[in-house]
Amino acid sequence: MAEPDLFAAESAVLAAARAAHEDDGAGAAEYRRVLGEMMAHYERLMRETRRLIRRSDRAERDMNQLNRQLHELAGQLEYRATHDPLTGALNRAALIEHASRLLEQGDLALIVLDIDHFKQVNDDFGHPAGDAVIQAVVRCLVSLLGDQVAIGRVGGEEFSVAWPTRHGAEAALLGERVCHAIAREVFAAPINRPVTASVGISWNPCGTSFDTAYLRADEALYEAKRAGRNCVRLAP
Ligand code: GH3
Ligand code: MG
Ligand code: MG
Repeated sequence: MAEPDLFAAESAVLAAARAAHEDDGAGAAEYRRVLGEMMAHYERLMRETRRLIRRSDRAERDMNQLNRQLHELAGQLEYRATHDPLTGALNRAALIEHASRLLEQGDLALIVLDIDHFKQVNDDFGHPAGDAVIQAVVRCLVSLLGDQVAIGRVGGEEFSVAWPTRHGAEAALLGERVCHAIAREVFAAPINRPVTASVGISWNPCGTSFDTAYLRADEALYEAKRAGRNCVRLAP
């Protein structure tokens, strides 16, 4: 089916105006009539054009707003997919991805940290108090290391930090600082007593796989636990 001609009326008026223009014998009355019709249609076209411009401005504003909401939602989704809801630290998958990327780019110290006797904290003070300790430990790590450092919650009460450094000795020092900072932390009521953590560290040359780096740090953590907890061990 042929599309209706949106400007059929205007085309007819234009044709009549052309005919009057070409007709040497057309009188003033004819010119006035044709001009009057042209004016009416011209005004209608201007009104319609204004209305369409307003409508398209509105559509553009709506679209921009939808676009902003979409970006915001995409950001929230990305955040939820990569962060632990309790602490805001990276989740396990995101920490692994981040640390793997860092290991491709350069040398890396990988810390694995586990809260000591945490089951006892839950048993003594309840699960919500245990949650508060987990949150406080992450806050402590962030205030010590800064919010640009990759800190991940890789298990219930186990955390990992990826710290790019070319020096193995610096990795050991970092572990000591982390361990002391947590031991010094005053945990809020109802805990009101120190909670410590054991720390294992591996220092890994560029190109090491994440699994290897993690396994070595985890073995060092196990050594720290065996040595009595609240201490640091560096993987050999
Ligand atoms: P160790 O010094 O050997 O690490 O002893 P631990 O008690 O810390 O370790 P264990 O593995 O025996 O217990 C860990 C506990 O952590 C058990 C589990 O119920 C608790 N836990 C795991 N995730 C959460 C959590 O999200 N919130 C709380 N409140 N507790 C958790
Ligand atoms: Mg523990
Ligand atoms: Mg554990």
